[in-house]
Amino acid sequence: MEKPTLTTVEGLRLALEELGLNSKGLKPELKQRYRKAVKKQKSSLPPPPPKEQQNEDKSAQPFDYYLFFDVEATCIEGGGFKYDNEIIEFPVDEFRSYVKPTINPTLSEFCINLTGIQQSTIDQSPTFIEVLNQLQEFLARYDLFQSASASFVTDGPFDIRDFITKQCKHSKIKKRPAYFDIPWVNIRKLFKDFYGLKENKNINGMLNHLQMQFKGREHSGLDDARNLAAIGKHMHEEGCIFKTNCKFNRNKRL
Ligand code: AMP
Ligand code: MG
Ligand code: MG
Repeated sequence: MEKPTLTTVEGLRLALEELGLNSKGLKPELKQRYRKAVKKQKSSLPPPPPKEQQNEDKSAQPFDYYLFFDVEATCIEGGGFKYDNEIIEFPVDEFRSYVKPTINPTLSEFCINLTGIQQSTIDQSPTFIEVLNQLQEFLARYDLFQSASASFVTDGPFDIRDFITKQCKHSKIKKRPAYFDIPWVNIRKLFKDFYGLKENKNINGMLNHLQMQFKGREHSGLDDARNLAAIGKHMHEEGCIFKTNCKFNRNKRL
């Protein structure tokens, strides 16, 4: 993937603020401060868990890691798929950042009620390019999609097929990050196939089927991702193999 760079003073200031650091000064100074902080942060991160604890049933599953991923996006009531959704929450299991939208920076009442994400939260959040940068650091920490194999797991095809595609267009990212271009696991489809159901079920439908309860707030990206992970864990314990079953077709226009 083309690594996004923090090229603007505004971007650097936001990134420094995000880290709780002084955001005053000229561009070279800001750049140096940011680089130092990232380096320091990396060296103080706890090491990943020992290999033997990372995947007890390595032989049973085709990937070392599964990244349960569920974004939230700007929306309006009845907006449908034609609406210019911009990502406002981007969580991958325990990596989560809110994201500042740029085309329609004001959230609709509907969107606030649906996602619980406040205007003041996204106003102070980094832009999508910066969040991708942070994700890159998270992935690098565990060597994901490198020496450790990994697959995203999503609730339906929407997050990677639609929201990421729209957001890359909004953020003028010409080359989609490679890890969004490779096949991933659509857990709705996997669930339907594994339990031999006629129809796909949404998160609550899957939880009900397993006699489990939603924990947290529905349509909060991180809580959705955590509940999807709980469903995935249950399926894994029941012997489900998490093979990829969904891929991005770049020729299909939204
Ligand atoms: P979800 O993962 O189900 O929380 O949905 C992801 C995103 O899809 C939301 O942040 C909204 O942008 C959009 N969305 C979900 N449900 C609706 C709805 N009923 N009407 C309009 N947009 C929706
Ligand atoms: Mg979702
Ligand atoms: Mg969600």
